Amino acid sequence: MKAGKAEVKRIARERISILLNQALKVYRDYPWLADRYVDLARRLSMRYKVRIPKPWRLLICRKCKRLMIPGFSARVRVRQRREPHIVFTCLRCGRVKRILLRRVGKGLT
Ligand SMILES: [Zn+2]
Repeated sequence: MKAGKAEVKRIARERISILLNQALKVYRDYPWLADRYVDLARRLSMRYKVRIPKPWRLLICRKCKRLMIPGFSARVRVRQRREPHIVFTCLRCGRVKRILLRRVGKGLT
């Protein structure tokens, strides 16, 4: 019997988390391997039209699509101007991402 659509998506989601977890485990020693895992996870997400879970999306650069690890491949600054927000800078392509703290509190917990 063919797997149902929901089942296929569930499996894709599972594989995405496995790949991303794996990427986090290896990025220090094998950054190229971590990039490869993230790439595979993104392909799965596009192919099966499932979203990459939110906490992970924060860690993937929108421009170069690679892992942004604070203190490793990203610079993180907290700014208090106007509204408190976090500024993530991807050290590989220079893309800047701003996250309002208010929204993070709501979206991540
Ligand atoms: Zn980047």
